[in-house]
Amino acid sequence: MRSLVWFRRDLRIADNTALFEAARHADDGVVGVFLITPEQWQKHDDASCKVKFLIENVRTLSDRLAELNIPLLIRTCHDFQEAPACISKLASETGCDTVYINREYEVNESKRDDNVSLACEQAGVAMRRFHDRTIVPPKAISTKEGRFYSVFTPYRKVWDLTARETVETTPDPEQQPVIAIGRDPVPESITGFDFSNARSDLWPPGEDEAQRRLDRFSESISAYNVERDIPSVRGTSLLSPYLNVGVISARQCFFRADQILESSAGENEGAKTWISELTWRDFYNHVMVACPRVSMHHPFKPKTNQIPWRTDQSDFEAWKTGTTGYPIVDAGMRQLNQTGWMHNRLRMVTAMFLTKNLLVDWRWGEKYFMSRLIDGDLSANNGGWQWSASTGTDSVPYFRIFNPFSQSKRFDPDGLFIRKMCPELKRVPAKALHDPAKLSDAIASLGIDYPNFVVDYKAGRERALSAFKSLK
Ligand SMILES: Cc1cc2nc3c(=O)[nH]c(=O)nc-3n(C[C@H](O)[C@H](O)[C@H](O)COP(=O)(O)OP(=O)(O)OC[C@H]3O[C@@H](n4cnc5c(N)ncnc54)[C@H](O)[C@@H]3O)c2cc1C
Repeated sequence: MRSLVWFRRDLRIADNTALFEAARHADDGVVGVFLITPEQWQKHDDASCKVKFLIENVRTLSDRLAELNIPLLIRTCHDFQEAPACISKLASETGCDTVYINREYEVNESKRDDNVSLACEQAGVAMRRFHDRTIVPPKAISTKEGRFYSVFTPYRKVWDLTARETVETTPDPEQQPVIAIGRDPVPESITGFDFSNARSDLWPPGEDEAQRRLDRFSESISAYNVERDIPSVRGTSLLSPYLNVGVISARQCFFRADQILESSAGENEGAKTWISELTWRDFYNHVMVACPRVSMHHPFKPKTNQIPWRTDQSDFEAWKTGTTGYPIVDAGMRQLNQTGWMHNRLRMVTAMFLTKNLLVDWRWGEKYFMSRLIDGDLSANNGGWQWSASTGTDSVPYFRIFNPFSQSKRFDPDGLFIRKMCPELKRVPAKALHDPAKLSDAIASLGIDYPNFVVDYKAGRERALSAFKSLK
């Protein structure tokens, strides 16, 4: 029996359920495959930096698999439609009787896998699917009445018990005898994606790098609950791109934090808070599976469809380019544009600014983030956008609109982050960065080239409040 492991967003050896199961059952070796689907990635608005990171990680995976004598084959299909023929044919050609995959929960990905399973069946090849992407599988948790939890806090209580009682990691597969199939080269470029501007120096690929980040973060995890909101310090794990392509598993992260928590007799607030963030990741996957319409441009709360979302191109352009005249918003957007990543506090601030202060359609922001983020993930991105726009499950109440100046005063008091991303504001005193009148005065007196406010703060806020109040 030979097994084919189809790697997708699980580009690792350690704690990889499908790979472990495939190796356990194969007595004639394991073969790996990765499908490059450029047109599908374009349809999904994947960012060039994300595709580059994905491909770099496929390359490091191929090297690691080669040490185990597992060849990684690379096939290119235009899109998911070609996957059934490609995978079933490859399984037959390589003499594999079973295809092993870790489930992907998005609608298109699930449909693709159903179709691949059917094509395999017709070719006499079995397909085995495993839960691996989240710590607790979606649908594993439901209310006493068997309904899905749409509120985070009760979900988290059950999640905590389930994770501790049922979740475990899998051992690494052992080196197999050499088989007569050679691995394929991994391409340097992908049609339709421009790799030239990606900041690869910030995101080195590979499992070792992801583990190093986890080790480094573990040393400062106790400060996470305080430092995670301050964009000028490295207070978060910076693991999101690695979790997204599965170079590290969410389970590995959870167990590390849980060990730290246990060794402090449950007193480590940083570790507790970090586990809670990992739970949000599971929660948004759980919501997407229970309510797939959220990932297809529909709000979780249907009545918010009545909001007259604006489609003002010039306001949207100012937001995209980090030229709104609101320093903390501009700093966040420039971080995204320059590095492919944005600090969580700023994702909330910028998303709320677009959807509330500018009342621009949240779907525009969701799409733009996806097209730029190295960690772009449908469920987390959608969850974050619907939270900020107050259209989602357990989202921020519509009247709690962040004031960008109070946010920067609280989380960037000395203006360190703002000045780093908006160097034209270097000479503006910190106090003026957090006060609209003082900011305008400083800009005028120092003769700085910085845009006027794209919207009057009070007027924008009132417009959003009245739009939400008039919902029936
Ligand atoms: C509007 C908006 C859009 C977002 N889009 C994405 C996205 O496309 N991809 C993405 O991975 N995260 C997204 N997030 C969540 C969060 O901002 C990032 O996960 C986090 O900033 C990544 O940095 P980190 O790895 O240092 O996180 P840490 O603070 O170290 O957290 C550890 C991990 O937990 C998960 N996580 C943390 N916060 C959240 C959250 N609120 N929701 C879901 N998972 C979370 C991530 O996998 C993260 O890597 C979004 C948030 C908002 C408000």
